[in-house]
Amino acid sequence: MIDSLTGAFNRRYFDEQLKDAFTLTQRESKEGIHTQVGMLIFDLDKFKSVNDRFTHAEGDRVLKKFVESMKSMIREEDVFARLGGEEFGLLIRESHKLSTEEIAHMVYRYRKIISENVFTGPVGGEKTEPVTTSVGLVLYPNGAVIEDISDFFSYADQALYRAKYNGRNQVVEFMGLDSDGQPQFSKVDVSPK
Ligand code: GH3
Ligand code: MG
Ligand code: MG
Repeated sequence: MIDSLTGAFNRRYFDEQLKDAFTLTQRESKEGIHTQVGMLIFDLDKFKSVNDRFTHAEGDRVLKKFVESMKSMIREEDVFARLGGEEFGLLIRESHKLSTEEIAHMVYRYRKIISENVFTGPVGGEKTEPVTTSVGLVLYPNGAVIEDISDFFSYADQALYRAKYNGRNQVVEFMGLDSDGQPQFSKVDVSPK
């Protein structure tokens, strides 16, 4: 259940929990009950360069620090897991209980904590370089019909890819499909509260 390096949940546990939450929401949706589930993928920016410049051990330290910072913030009912390498998933159960603004602010707060706590630098030297993250967000259902859990995951992944492509250190949300069935994405901007 637990990733040995960071103490976050592991991929297998995340997949199980995501499947349960997704299936429940799908069933409720068919019964006309409006519930929603959300998922975020966090990917550390330019992490390879941390390893290359400051050693693999420093990279490991950063991963642990990142997880420690995230764990201090997450809601009891959510699942935070290492999906692999420097990629992490956050399952937001019952995201319909939060408004879109609340979700955006939640992500804002995570990223703020990371920016205040996770730094890197040379071994034995000062840790002054901020470690940033790019984030993909998907909420289900949000207008688009997502039939399959692998599509749900894939839209989060595509949103993350957009965040990277647009310059990193940002959050991009999957906004549903257009009339041609093309996925739409939008950068999530929030002003601090
Ligand atoms: P991007 O901003 O596009 O995400 O760039 P990146 O360098 O973060 O992405 P890339 O996928 O090229 O590199 C991820 C790196 O993460 C490569 C691998 O060496 C490193 N990594 C994966 N798992 C571990 C780990 O357990 N410990 C350490 N120290 N590094 C790891
Ligand atoms: Mg990365
Ligand atoms: Mg990666």
